[in-house]
Amino acid sequence: MARAVAAYWEPMENNQVKCILCPRECVILEGLSGFCLVRKNEGGRLISTVYAEITSGGYDPIEKKPLYHFYPGSVIFSIGTNGCNLDCRSCQNWQISRRETEREFFPPRMAVEYAGKYNSIGIAYTYNDPIVWFEYVKDTAYLIKETGLINVMVTNGNINLQPLKELLPLIDAFNVDLKGMTKKYYAEFSLLSNPNVWQVCEEIKKAGKHLELTKLVVPKFDEFTPEYFEKFAKWIAENLGKDTPLHLSRFFPAYKLINFMPTPVEVLNMAYDVCREYLDYVYVGNVPDRTRESTYCPECGALLVERVGYDVVVHFKNKKCPKCGRDVDFVV
Ligand SMILES: [Zn+2]
Repeated sequence: MARAVAAYWEPMENNQVKCILCPRECVILEGLSGFCLVRKNEGGRLISTVYAEITSGGYDPIEKKPLYHFYPGSVIFSIGTNGCNLDCRSCQNWQISRRETEREFFPPRMAVEYAGKYNSIGIAYTYNDPIVWFEYVKDTAYLIKETGLINVMVTNGNINLQPLKELLPLIDAFNVDLKGMTKKYYAEFSLLSNPNVWQVCEEIKKAGKHLELTKLVVPKFDEFTPEYFEKFAKWIAENLGKDTPLHLSRFFPAYKLINFMPTPVEVLNMAYDVCREYLDYVYVGNVPDRTRESTYCPECGALLVERVGYDVVVHFKNKKCPKCGRDVDFVV
């Protein structure tokens, strides 16, 4: 078993500890773990029980993260472990994020070795939430950076600002899953009453890192009205910039919402139209739709990147729109 003393905790009386990694700030009794399952109080010290242990690893298209404006068409080695600081009702990965499973030993040096193979551009920390894996992500990301490869985090974005500041210089791109725009939404959907994801997104942007957002559109939890999606898009445009890509993802029944119907495609299309009025790059996810998965030049409307599922055709060269010459908003 690979384990490490955790970062970001404070000792308390009676051998309790307070974890200060994420806004949940669990107070943990001796012998127990925090809400995330993988940060455990052993004898009055907080231990990461998943350090250098993975549940799965594989080579994925970068579009699968999803990141559409970051090395389009490339492959990235992706790993995850157990645990999450949220408990979202429709979690697709609850078997690994809300349960403990068998894990394989995978020290940082091994991650670096795999990250450079098969044309992979680097490594993505994904599948479960990498926030709760902070110590391993930090150590691995440091080594990855040294070799000139890329680090990507796919996350819910609820992490305290001090640990975030340690990660920011190491991580090149983030996909943040933005569940909702209110504390109430997070309390009801993700069981987190004090989210700080909005501020985290602003910090990522301020640090000059690449950021894309995913919004899962869930029946009953989300209002299916134009005004509702207008609120999302306006906030993004005003606080993160209108060039921030937004992925509107179709809900399918899972985990605690297994008896819900999938999101109607018309609702996604309506949300797409509304958000496009405020944002340059909006996409639908979990629905095959060549038109709404592709990228167009905000200036002249020319097709810049054509996508059909994970098939990607890039139509621009030298980072310029082939029709009007505008600089494209892509990291390549
Ligand atoms: Zn153009």
